[in-house]
Amino acid sequence: MEEKIKQIQSEYLEKTEQAKSLGELDEIFLALFGKNGEITLLPKDFGSLPKDEVKAVAPVFNQVKQELEKAINDKRYAIREEGYKKLEQETLDLDKKTEIKKRQGHLHPLTQFEKRIADLFAKLGFQQYDSPQLDTDYMTFQVLNIPEDSPARDLQDTFYIENGALAYVDTPDKDTKEKLVLRSHTSNSEVRFMREHQPPIRMMAIGRCFRYENLDARHEHTFDQFEIVCIDKGINMGNLQYLSEYFLKEVFGTEIKARLRTKYYPQVEPGAGIDGLCIFCKGKGCKVCGGVGWLELGGAGMIHPVALKNGGIDTEVYSGLAWGISPERMIMLIYGIEDIRLLRSGDLKFLEKF
Ligand SMILES: [Zn+2]
Repeated sequence: MEEKIKQIQSEYLEKTEQAKSLGELDEIFLALFGKNGEITLLPKDFGSLPKDEVKAVAPVFNQVKQELEKAINDKRYAIREEGYKKLEQETLDLDKKTEIKKRQGHLHPLTQFEKRIADLFAKLGFQQYDSPQLDTDYMTFQVLNIPEDSPARDLQDTFYIENGALAYVDTPDKDTKEKLVLRSHTSNSEVRFMREHQPPIRMMAIGRCFRYENLDARHEHTFDQFEIVCIDKGINMGNLQYLSEYFLKEVFGTEIKARLRTKYYPQVEPGAGIDGLCIFCKGKGCKVCGGVGWLELGGAGMIHPVALKNGGIDTEVYSGLAWGISPERMIMLIYGIEDIRLLRSGDLKFLEKF
C-alpha cells in the first residue's frame, strides 16, 4: 500500500511540475481529488488491511495528500505570476504605422448650398434666425396679413395638427389658444424677429417647411426655404433687384441677370417673382426654361404694412423687403438634378456624387 502511495506521489508531482496551464492543473487536481480521484478512492482499501499496516500507512497517506495539494496550489500561483509578468512587459507601440479606413462622409448637397448662401448674406450683415417648425396659425399666417378666412390660404396647402393640439401664444390677448400648424414657409420668423429687434433689421431664415403637396419631380411635402428680411428707412423695390442680382451672380457667375415680375403673395405689397436669365440657353429659349429664356427662382416683395405693424414697426418711418428662394430648386439647376425627391431619399448612390 505504501508503495502505491509513493508511486502516486512521484507520478503526480512530476505531472504537476510539467504543467503549463491552469487548465492542465485542474485536470491533475480532478484526477487526484475528484469524485473518482486516486487519492479520494485510496482510503476505501484501508478496510482490508491489517490494523498495524493501517497505523503505518495512514500518516504517509495524509502527508502525501497534503504534499500533492500544496504542489498543485504552488504551481497555480507560479503560472498566474508568470502571466502577470508577461502582461507587464507587453507594450503598445503607438508609433507603428496603421492603415486607417479612408472612406468618410460629407455634408448633404442641400446643406452645402445653404451654408454657402448663408455666408453670402452674412457678408452683407444679415443675421441668421431660427423659428419653430411646428408653430401657431397666428405666427405662421395671421400676423402676416393672412387671416383665417383669407382666400390666400389656398395658396399654401397646410398641415394642421389635429384635436387638442392647441398652444397658448404671445398674441395681444395672452390667454388666446391657437391652432398649431407645420409651418408652410419660413416667414413665421418675420414678425417674431421684428418684435425682438429694432430697425435697421437684416435677418435671414433658413429651414424646413411642410405643405400638403401632390408629389412629383418638382414638388415635395417637406422642403427648405431661404428667406431674408431687410427693414430700414427708404427700402424699396430697387433693393430687391440689387439683392437678386447679387445672389444670382455669386451663385451662377457674372453672366447672369435677374428680373422681377409682378406676382401676388399675401404677405407683401407689391409682390414679385424673381427670375434669372436661363443659365442653359442664356436667354435664347430652351427646353428647361420652356422657351421663355428666364427661370423662376424665388419670390419677393415689400413687406405688407399690416405685418410690419404687427411686428411693432413704425410704417411712417420704415419700410421692409422680404426675399426668398427654394434651395432645392437652386441645386437642381446647378447640378442638373431631375427629381426633387432624390434629395431626401437617403440614397447613398445619389449623395456620393456631391
Ligand atoms: Zn433656357
